[in-house]
Amino acid sequence: MKTIAVLGSTGSIGTQTLEVARANGDLKIAALAAGRNIKMLENQIREFHPSAVAVWEEEAAAQLRTAVADLDVKVVAGMDGLIEISTLPEVEILVTAIVGMIGIRPTIEAIKAGKDIALANKETLVTAGHIIMPLAKECNVRILPVDSEHSAIFQSLNGENRERVAKLLITASGGPFRGRTREQLKNVKVEDALKHPNWSMGQKITIDSATLVNKGLEVMEAKWLFGIDLDRIQVVVQPQSVIHSMVEFVDGAIIAELGTPDMKLPIQYALYYPDRRFLAGERLDFGKLARITFEEPDTDVFSGLPLAYRAAGEGGSMPTVFNAANEKAVSKFLHRQINFLDIYEIITECMDAHKTIQNPGVEEILDAEAATYELIESRW
Ligand code: NDP
Ligand code: MG
Repeated sequence: MKTIAVLGSTGSIGTQTLEVARANGDLKIAALAAGRNIKMLENQIREFHPSAVAVWEEEAAAQLRTAVADLDVKVVAGMDGLIEISTLPEVEILVTAIVGMIGIRPTIEAIKAGKDIALANKETLVTAGHIIMPLAKECNVRILPVDSEHSAIFQSLNGENRERVAKLLITASGGPFRGRTREQLKNVKVEDALKHPNWSMGQKITIDSATLVNKGLEVMEAKWLFGIDLDRIQVVVQPQSVIHSMVEFVDGAIIAELGTPDMKLPIQYALYYPDRRFLAGERLDFGKLARITFEEPDTDVFSGLPLAYRAAGEGGSMPTVFNAANEKAVSKFLHRQINFLDIYEIITECMDAHKTIQNPGVEEILDAEAATYELIESRW
């Protein structure tokens, strides 16, 4: 029986992680963490009996303590709480399904404590890949990708000599606005951007899929996860989301992972790696699958992707600024304070205004994030 902790247990990845645990019956949930959804967290505590849970605010922690007073569970709060539950001695795998840069510190501390990481939180590698990857190597822990694209690449690399990789081909659905012009994107509504053609995900990442910023973040993560230069990472639009990503080797062979779009597959693969378990659900039916088509991403319209390559190319603190600017801009878009295309403008202006710090420490990363937020608040 494996023992895991789940950060962000009330979110899209978090709840699906618990579904995987429920279906398999042999994962012990030692700890859970969530933000505001105390009611759902209480239900999760009653079902999975973790020994400790963390919520962000002390007030919410106090409420939760009262609600679960009949149970033997410790309720902690804040960053200290997140770190405490991420480093519990019995935890073997930490699932980082929290959204935002608050995922970085608990992940670092868990790695230091020897926990394998099932990584969903994008911000961790995007902003601190240069810290996380060497640390994981030093502490001999595995970073197991949960994102479907990285999981597909991870699966395609099984048993291969990584020095024989020619390039990584990251597939993208193209999002709900694929094929549109800039003019047509000027006045799109939040509701339209939230209609992802294939995947059901949290709100922030769904908007990121519509702007292609999500693909940019995945390129940055892939660079760190697989130790590949940016010029050997290519994005391929494949609107049906049947191919979840591919690896091309030096002899021209391409190995891919295919399937129906279901995040439970990569989640389960990370949790049981290198084993595979049965997973209920639809199977690809090649008799019914009419076609798989490919396109190049439209980088003129969806400038989230070239901006990401630029940020990753400059490196240091620039990916943090790209990420933080996008995070704030998406939040403003979701609150209907800015238009869809303003997201790109905000990211560009923040990057232009930033002086890159090479090899930033965690403090400097968090400072770059705060400075980016301040700049946005003062201008938009
Ligand atoms: P959701 O918005 O659905 O969930 C986010 C989770 O984080 C919730 O449980 C939320 O708690 C929790 N959370 C937010 N703030 C805090 C906080 N301050 N302290 C503790 N917990 C907090 O996001 P997703 O599940 O979609 O995504 C999670 C991460 O995984 C993101 O980084 C995303 O980019 C990445 N990812 C997601 C994929 C997907 O299919 N959804 C695919 C690949 C990667 P609460 O709701 O209680 O406030
Ligand atoms: Mg993805």
